[in-house]
Amino acid sequence: MALKTYKFRLYPTRKQAEKLQWTLARCCELYNAALQERREMYTYTGKGTTYNQQAMQLPEIKGIREEYKDIHSQVLQDVLRKVENAFKGFFKRVKAGKKPGYPRFQGCNRYDSFCYPQAGFSLENGLLVLSKVGHVKIKQHRKVLGNMKTCTLKREGNCWYVCLVCEVQSVPRTPYTDECVGIDLGVSKLATLSTGDVIENPQHYRRAEKQLAKAGQALSRKKRGSKRCKKAVERMARLHRKVRNQRNDYLHQWSRRLVNTYETIVFEEIAPANLSKRAKPKQDEETGHYLPNGASAKSGLNKSILDTGWSTFIARCEYKAENAGTVQVVKVDPRMTSQVCSGCGTVVKKDLSERWHSCACGYELDRDHNAAINIRNRWLGRSHQEAQAS
Ligand SMILES: [Zn+2]
Repeated sequence: MALKTYKFRLYPTRKQAEKLQWTLARCCELYNAALQERREMYTYTGKGTTYNQQAMQLPEIKGIREEYKDIHSQVLQDVLRKVENAFKGFFKRVKAGKKPGYPRFQGCNRYDSFCYPQAGFSLENGLLVLSKVGHVKIKQHRKVLGNMKTCTLKREGNCWYVCLVCEVQSVPRTPYTDECVGIDLGVSKLATLSTGDVIENPQHYRRAEKQLAKAGQALSRKKRGSKRCKKAVERMARLHRKVRNQRNDYLHQWSRRLVNTYETIVFEEIAPANLSKRAKPKQDEETGHYLPNGASAKSGLNKSILDTGWSTFIARCEYKAENAGTVQVVKVDPRMTSQVCSGCGTVVKKDLSERWHSCACGYELDRDHNAAINIRNRWLGRSHQEAQAS
């Protein structure tokens, strides 16, 4: 058994956010009070106190300060445990002869999380149900495997996150990462990853294509039904098979590499609706001739040929991910992913022929790299600023 932490973004209502913040403030207050009690005990009696002695006082506290009844009792116990751990750490450092650093009082800005250590939380229909807080909307970007052990609510800036620690059957796979990668499927290259890595289209395919064309010409010169014709047909079939195998190998290798490296692989949804959406033809103002608009590569027949390659690639990843157990392959709406700036979120309009993303905010990167980052962020439900901070 292994422990695994899932972190999800929460979208509390304003009231829920207030309650979360309020709970956090109470926990901080309790933390500092518990710390002070330990300090004073030590100063006046020369002895410390224990977690149990402090926890026994909780009902009494609730009697004096009614509002503490509005917090799940295990959450409060967990605060006291935090204090105990802070002291344990302190004494350990003293013993080890290191610079000890006495446990400090926490300001409300520093104190940014509280925890349900056993009970009082559950996941129901895409909502995180928290005792004394309510049903909070959650962006659950991946399935939770195993038994949930603890639930920690964490504030980062103005955003709330939940960290669920689960006990999962350990699956042997190397290397193990909790990373999420966004993938932009391309025309001239097979794909670009949100890490900036590029998967080129297999070059040998081009070479084989030439051979195929040659073989086709040779075949056309042979007399139908002749022995030579039969041989030429065989050669064509062999070449076709070779191309297919090479392409297959290539897709297998790359899907294997992705599945072994990442936990979540995010693709753009290949919408059939896009097929019908043709790019508007562009005309030269003086001559009236039609100009290449740079969009044809992603529409019409070109698009459907690309699509089959892409779908095969996605299918490969899905299949391998399923066997790996803990890896997931997901898809997001690709709209605007290449136009929006992954740094600041503004829309930077560009033709398909423009290969570089250059934004007023100072973001300069490859167009497809930018798109891949947007695809990843869309799945994680993060805004641009947050993504940048993380
Ligand atoms: Zn920008």
